[in-house]
Amino acid sequence: MNTELLDREDLLAEVRDQFYLPAGQVYLDGNSLGPLPLAARDRVADLTSRQWGEDLITSWNRHGWIDLPQRCGEKIAPLLGASQGQVVCCDSISVNLFKVLTAALRLNSGRKLVLSQKDNFPTDLYMAQGLEQLLGAERCELKTVTATELENCLDSSVAVLMLTHVNFRSGEVHDMVRLTELAHKNGILVIWDLAHSAGALPLELDRCGVDFAVGCGYKFLNGGPGAPAFVYVAQRWQDAAVNVLSGWMGHAQAFAFAPDYVPAAGINRFLSGTPPILAMAALDAALDVFAQVDMQQVRNKSLALSDLLIERLDNDPALTELRLISPRQHHLRGSQVALAHPDAYALTQCLIAHGFVADFRAPDILRVGITPLYTRFADIEAFAKRLAVILSGGEYRQPRFAERQRVT
Ligand SMILES: *Cc1c(COP(=O)(O)O)cnc(C)c1O
Repeated sequence: MNTELLDREDLLAEVRDQFYLPAGQVYLDGNSLGPLPLAARDRVADLTSRQWGEDLITSWNRHGWIDLPQRCGEKIAPLLGASQGQVVCCDSISVNLFKVLTAALRLNSGRKLVLSQKDNFPTDLYMAQGLEQLLGAERCELKTVTATELENCLDSSVAVLMLTHVNFRSGEVHDMVRLTELAHKNGILVIWDLAHSAGALPLELDRCGVDFAVGCGYKFLNGGPGAPAFVYVAQRWQDAAVNVLSGWMGHAQAFAFAPDYVPAAGINRFLSGTPPILAMAALDAALDVFAQVDMQQVRNKSLALSDLLIERLDNDPALTELRLISPRQHHLRGSQVALAHPDAYALTQCLIAHGFVADFRAPDILRVGITPLYTRFADIEAFAKRLAVILSGGEYRQPRFAERQRVT
């Protein structure tokens, strides 16, 4: 495979220049923390010195801080296939899940089952478990099944189907159209977690008739560490949906300081407290990169990059110890390649020591994030070569690579 040629013909090649990428590193972890967009760096610098520094509290109006949750939401909306007025930026996925899960359970109050997947991202399940504690077993019960059992469990006992679109370990993609439709046929409301989908593959929430969705600002959207998340509520539910985290930012007139809560119209009622302006401004600037790219092009390049890695796995005898966990079929593969190996942790640490940053996911997965905005075909080839050298030479067996750190 001539990766030089592939890089020269790459329609997205120039987008790479909009990121700060440390020299001598191949960054394959943008699915966990996106790198720094130059625009985000400049925005935060301006925000701290001129806006916060000089203009202080007048910045809420003068620099539009107060509208940032909506402005960011409207920049994210096209990436989700959402028309205006349905997405707002706030809080974390965990908190937003709590809001939409409680709202969905109230909307479907004759039922109590929340159906999810056993290997869903833990925080999603934890939030549902917390809600079980709060509401009691008569009003909320979490049921988790395997991916293959899901469809058979969609019946009239289920209130809410809560799934993550792209599995964080395997990268397997759910059929959003089919599952949403099957759920609706059974009177079930649907919540999709788009943590590994937004900014990674084209989405069509409106067309799929999705009820609620949540997603993350710091992964494929490159909003920075701990960037705020987003929440999508379909227009048709907005008037009836109750946000029980009814903070003042979701009030119809926040600055009337009235003693009683009156929800804002539309998506704004899903806000709770004061927006984290520094973090949200970074995300807002990062999102401008997406305004210049076509998500179908991003998706095509993502698949070409992961195909290249899979082709190397299939053909390099030094890589046969690794077991491909991610699906081979394009429509089932998200924007990552998961590789199982008994020493995946040490392998990951050894790769990082050589400047190839991927991550480890317990119990035994080396996870390679595929991020087409700044990853070159040559990067994937160099990664596969280095991995082969490390595996055949056994360097990863050195004790220093087995030392566990707090964040993997
Ligand atoms: C990363 C991730 C989260 C993170 O949730 P936060 O509350 O934003 O920390 C949640 N769900 C999934 C599926 C994820 O991949």
